[in-house]
Amino acid sequence: MKVMKFGGSSVGSAEAIARVLELVARQQQEGNSLALVCSAMSGVTDGLLRMLAAAVAGQPVQEELNQLQNRHYAVVRELLEVKRHNPALLSLKIYFNELEALFAGIQALGEVSARTSDRVLSYGELCSNVLMAHLVDQQCGRGVFADARQLIKTNAQYGKALVNPGLSRQLIRSFFLQHAGSIPVITGFIAATEGGDTTTLGRGGSDYTAALIGAAIEAEEIQIWTDVDGFMTADPRLVKKAFSLDQLSYNEAIELSYFGAKVIYPPTMLPAIDKGIPIRIKNTFNPACAGTLIGPTSGTGGSLIRGISSIAEISLLNVQGSGMVGQAGFSGRLFSALARKEVNVVLITQASSEHSITFAIRPQDVAPARQAIEGEFEFELLSGKLDAPQLQEGCSIVAAVGENMKQARGLAGKLFSALGRSGVNIIAIAQGSSELNISLVIRQEDLRKALNSVHDSLFLSPVKTLHVFCCGTGTIG
Ligand code: ADP
Ligand code: ASP
Ligand code: MG
Repeated sequence: MKVMKFGGSSVGSAEAIARVLELVARQQQEGNSLALVCSAMSGVTDGLLRMLAAAVAGQPVQEELNQLQNRHYAVVRELLEVKRHNPALLSLKIYFNELEALFAGIQALGEVSARTSDRVLSYGELCSNVLMAHLVDQQCGRGVFADARQLIKTNAQYGKALVNPGLSRQLIRSFFLQHAGSIPVITGFIAATEGGDTTTLGRGGSDYTAALIGAAIEAEEIQIWTDVDGFMTADPRLVKKAFSLDQLSYNEAIELSYFGAKVIYPPTMLPAIDKGIPIRIKNTFNPACAGTLIGPTSGTGGSLIRGISSIAEISLLNVQGSGMVGQAGFSGRLFSALARKEVNVVLITQASSEHSITFAIRPQDVAPARQAIEGEFEFELLSGKLDAPQLQEGCSIVAAVGENMKQARGLAGKLFSALGRSGVNIIAIAQGSSELNISLVIRQEDLRKALNSVHDSLFLSPVKTLHVFCCGTGTIG
């Protein structure tokens, strides 16, 4: 069994969906049993979020809702045979009526809870997958629509819920037993609490759904079909010379995606590691390209640094003071206080004098982080043992990742000299003792320059241009 996950751009239009159906039909003809997981059509989740904000502000959303509905209806009319129109249009109409009622409620209240927001966002995946199930049934085999809320159970942490793996595994397995011989078409991204409330797995979470399904049924491969040729050495939108990698280890993929490589959602690797299932990233629009295989080992050959990724918007907070020197438990108190406020710390550096700790967080976490520090260290701040935390905004993180980096000397030097040559100032540095990752904090305005210079020096320096001249007299062949 193979799990094929198709992202938003792969199901974003009738033309793209027609390609997907061809790919599915081909796999089917080759004798593979399949399960599909699809995202919402491209831009739909962002559109629903925009409509939520408008509804809270009491603005009308009907026009955008109609456009969304028409986008789905257009696919029905273009790709489904006439006798299948009614059931498909009816399912979609029910979803759009429910959405309309939800938006009317939000407009009346002028506010939306995280719980209702997840409910609204779920319609993106519900609509695209109900559509895909009808199309797969018409063209590829017995397609069965599966609402992942019946299969994946989570806690009530709306927006980014935590999965109950044991219960979900059991539900997924019994669904597959019940529907043996068909092609389940499963909604990515969405799940539900045990009580039945809709939750979501975090933005980009359809990849994770595919991995949860794959692990539960012990699939032979989890395929992530997207709009680029695989996992690339850097974000192709920022680095024009980025190229796709043949192979990456699970750990490298986790590090690169955690530090911003959007091509795969970081938790996706965990269920796959658990069962040792390979993940293959493929391009729906260029299926002949082999793509990237993510498995237990890193690829051999090429640079020891496998990729560079970046988080564009980061704020740095520096906490320092004489009261910190040699104080056992200070970092513990600091990071526990941050955790209680649900601040996600992206990177930490500490000077060996123990006089200062600097950590990187997302800009939206600055206010809760300050509150956490002021609450926890009220006495130290008042008595002057600790200075007021210093904030540096407008920073970015660049991370260079490679499993085999630890075997090599001089890589960090190469990285720093590339940045030095380009005039990029490094504000903070962190390297874990696993030596899988070197992370640097730089000014946001230097990001593109930094990525390109590091990429050129790490990946393109072995490529040398040679000029060959032939000279002489007479017949030079
Ligand atoms: P999907 O909708 O198929 O899930 P995403 O937009 O979530 O696709 O992820 C694919 C995008 O990730 C690519 O179009 C590319 O712009 C971006 N991306 C960022 N970093 C990388 C990288 N290192 N390799 C490949 N793509 C990357
Ligand atoms: N549709 C969701 C999003 O845009 C989930 C996904 O695409 O993976 O975040
Ligand atoms: Mg994605």
